[in-house]
Amino acid sequence: MITLRLPDGAEKKLDAPIRADEFARSIAPSLAKRALAVRIDGELRDLSTVLDGDSAIEFLMRDHPDALELLRHDAAHVLAEAVQELYPGTQVTIGPVIEHGFYYDFARDEPFHPEDLEKIEARMHEIVKRNETITREVWNRADAIEHFRGIGEHYKAEIIKDLPEDEVITIYRQGEWLDLCRGPHLPSTGKLGKAFKLLRLAGAYWRGDSSNPMLQRIYGTAWAEPSQLKDYLHMLEEARKRDHRRIGKDMGLFHMQEEAAGMVFWHRDGWTLYRELESYMRRKLAEGGYFEVKTPQLVDRKLWESSGHWDKFREHMYVTESEERHLALKPMNCPCHVQLFNQGTTSYRDLPLRMAEFGACHRYEPSGALHGLMRVRGFVQDDAHIFCTEGQINSETKRFCALLEEIYGELGFKDIHIMYADRPEKRIGEDALWDYAEKALEQAVQATGLPYDSNPGEGAFYGPKLEFNLRDAIGRSWQCGTFQVDFNLPKVLGATYIGEDGARHVPVMLHRAILGSMERFIGILIEHYEGRFPFWLAPVQLVVATITNRADAYAEEVAGVLREAGLRVETDIRNEKINYKVREHSHGKVPAILVVGDKEAESREVSLRRLGSKEQTSLTLDEAVETFVQEALPPDLRPRS
Ligand SMILES: [Zn+2]
Ligand SMILES: [Zn+2]
Repeated sequence: MITLRLPDGAEKKLDAPIRADEFARSIAPSLAKRALAVRIDGELRDLSTVLDGDSAIEFLMRDHPDALELLRHDAAHVLAEAVQELYPGTQVTIGPVIEHGFYYDFARDEPFHPEDLEKIEARMHEIVKRNETITREVWNRADAIEHFRGIGEHYKAEIIKDLPEDEVITIYRQGEWLDLCRGPHLPSTGKLGKAFKLLRLAGAYWRGDSSNPMLQRIYGTAWAEPSQLKDYLHMLEEARKRDHRRIGKDMGLFHMQEEAAGMVFWHRDGWTLYRELESYMRRKLAEGGYFEVKTPQLVDRKLWESSGHWDKFREHMYVTESEERHLALKPMNCPCHVQLFNQGTTSYRDLPLRMAEFGACHRYEPSGALHGLMRVRGFVQDDAHIFCTEGQINSETKRFCALLEEIYGELGFKDIHIMYADRPEKRIGEDALWDYAEKALEQAVQATGLPYDSNPGEGAFYGPKLEFNLRDAIGRSWQCGTFQVDFNLPKVLGATYIGEDGARHVPVMLHRAILGSMERFIGILIEHYEGRFPFWLAPVQLVVATITNRADAYAEEVAGVLREAGLRVETDIRNEKINYKVREHSHGKVPAILVVGDKEAESREVSLRRLGSKEQTSLTLDEAVETFVQEALPPDLRPRS
């Protein structure tokens, strides 16, 4: 007798083992039709799995969030089958599921062309229509290697050869085609549906190693429903339009070049934006009770050894040699801040101590991983460390969350989501301390009222942490802020304070950042606003453009007055048509254009054209100054209503 428990608590007793799909049919034919896979005691399996013991059974439907991974995995197989049908002799290698989709790496002498993707996609739809049954087979390892070698699939043979000794070799077959795979899979190719699309081609080294042959990667996306695919493609299109690399170039904000890969050349306007954001953050930090410091760029290996970074982070560090010493460009500021803390004696009365730095850091990233401002090698963190007592963790967490929410809101991001990660298996510190810190964090997070999720066991070995994600204008989520409790670093670097009891105690260190890195955050801002920054952040806030040369002197006068009022103004007195000038500055995302001609010079007025509006309004020069001085106030300096 077998007892199968269903999610609703119902129990079914059976006399003999039964296949999961048959079991589904016995409950309801519609269930069998809709199910994609089955979860047996929490483990996802094929519908063909035989249920032969007491277990908890859950059928996975199309609309289940976990079903996406299955669909994408199947899409990768169908892609590989389509490619091999169309281009015989192409070898398959690996084809994993990734965020929003999948890819497959192929070895083929001839290159694929973008127009091939359409052809391959059409064949994929054919394979879906064929509705080939997908079956799982267990193979003998040697047979599997021989089989794949025999059909010229040398990469597959190598993958099988390298699998752990005790791993069962499973092959999934769909129609004539088969692939090495751990599974599970959909019951047939028809279940994939129509909601998939191939997106692009890329090169990728076999096993990610540049000394290996270059393979051809085909990226695709797959969804449960066509409407989801449509939404996703729309989002991609929006993201393409907002690409910060293109907008950054159009607006002349920054550039990057081979000689300093992963590092930013800030141009005049980009640097203006950067400094505005930095000044804003500096004011917020001061208001939040932080003080600012600056620590060295190059630090002796010895300190990194003591802090543990040399051991754990070495591959990301740039190291140089001088006077027979090894120095590393700092990849983070934390150990330096402990050096500052260690100067002099700190009393419990001095805590919490909030030490901030716009810390310039360098971390090695493989060149293939670099991506505009979003993934760089040289960056500046809006970093700070809070040294406090255990009893202050809770109030400091709350304070931090409030500051972060305020800053995100003022920068235009209202939708924030928190990830809370608690103790991992391997950790330092006593459980009582973890209990305390975890409770302090979770309670502080709950007090924010913001939505949050838990990532059990994903904290660092030295303490629990929070990650703060913001959602941008097109719904993408970006992890920017972090808050990390650390019981370890102050201890290993010898930080202590004199407690109320007169004895020395080790402070708790809270690592925290709000923007994350200035560079990446500016990248996010560019994409979020599509370059149309709020007035206070716009690198050029106003252009005074002339209709006629006779207004040149007046234009210069207007610009001078506005400049004196602290606004960022330019004049355009070129001998061009006014519509041409307006078009050009609109393209450059200048928020306001002041048009001046004979009439304006005469009446000492300006005609205002706002970005994105066809309307033109007249203002006196005084009104213009007043209006724009108000608008240029950063959000933290505006009068609070
Ligand atoms: Zn598979
Ligand atoms: Zn830190």
